[in-house]
Formats: sequence, C-alpha cells, structure tokens
Amino acid sequence: MAQYSLPDLPYDYGALEPHLSGAILELHHDKHHATYVAGANTALEKLTAARDGDDLGPSLVGLERNLAFHVSGHVLHSLYWLNMSPDGGGQPDGELAAAVDEHLGGFAKLQAQMNAVVATVQGSGWAALSWEPLGQRLVVHQVLDHQDNVGSGSLPIFVIDAWEHAFYLQYKNVKADYAKAFWNIVNWPDVAARFDRARAVALP
Ligand code: MN
Repeated sequence: MAQYSLPDLPYDYGALEPHLSGAILELHHDKHHATYVAGANTALEKLTAARDGDDLGPSLVGLERNLAFHVSGHVLHSLYWLNMSPDGGGQPDGELAAAVDEHLGGFAKLQAQMNAVVATVQGSGWAALSWEPLGQRLVVHQVLDHQDNVGSGSLPIFVIDAWEHAFYLQYKNVKADYAKAFWNIVNWPDVAARFDRARAVALP
C-alpha cells in the first residue's frame, strides 16, 4: 500500500523560465522527485516486512537510512516546488521580515548565507531556512543529501536544492549563478505562510 504520492507541479514546466528551464523542471519533478516517492514507499514496505517477519537484524540500519533519505527527499522537493513561483522574487515582509532582521541580520545577510551554503555543498545537498522551535528562532543550515545536518524538530520553510540535477542542464558548473537567479522566483507568501504554521509548533 503506497503511503506517499507525487504531487503535481503547481505551474507549467516552463513557468519559471528564464531563471529555471522547463527541461530541468520536467526531469527534476517527473524523474528525480518520483524516485524519492517510490523509494519512500519501498522502504516502508520493507520495514513492515522486517517487523512482520521478526527480521530486525543488522539490515535494519540500511532500511532506516533509506527511509530517512527518500522521505526527506520527498518532503524537501514538495516544499521546493511551492517555494518557487512565476510571480516570485522581491523580499519578505511583515513578521517574517522582522524575524529575518532579528535572527539573521537582515535580508541581505540571509541571501549571502543561503548563497554561501549552496556554493559550499560538497556533493549533494540543500540550503535551508528553518524554524527552530525550542529556541524560537530562524536558522540557516546546509542539508547533506536530503536528511543529514538537520536539527531535531527544526522545520524547513524555504529551501534551495543544490544537487547538480537542480541546475546543471542550464547553469553547468556555475552553481553561483543558479543561486543568484533563484531569488527572482522565491514565493515569499508561501514562505511566510510556512513561517506562521511552524511557529505554532511547541517543543518542551
Ligand atoms: Mn532535487
């Protein structure tokens, strides 16, 4: 029984051009994201089979790792599509802008740190702006692959995919240009709505 399914893109493949090509969007959504959805369902099925068969030996570690990798990939890509919009760009306002000022030193610093995170990903990863519920603050961090280097309980509200599949067809090796162009398509109302929902989470 499939637990996860691939969401539709909220816009046409070419809707984010010239900042992000339709060819990238089509492959990224239809092939890469779909693979994480399938992998998450497979990992769940195998874990269920392992429990049912009382087969909780060393292979459990690999199954757990696969579940974390694929579910996190599904979560981050689902967020990524909605973080972007053909009508995006500009800057956050209201309470989100105030929190960016207070916790991160302002919008220019947020941009600089996110761009630096994208630039310094070794291999595959993401740049993330997350809400840390215990400290009640925004944090910027790198995500290694899809799931590592994430603070427990932190909720991503804005992510930039820094895997090569996210930019290479258009930007080749110049990852910095991808990061720079990304700011033209950020859907700030979506980020602000996630910020509001994340702040409702209470950790002890
Ligand atoms: Mn991706």
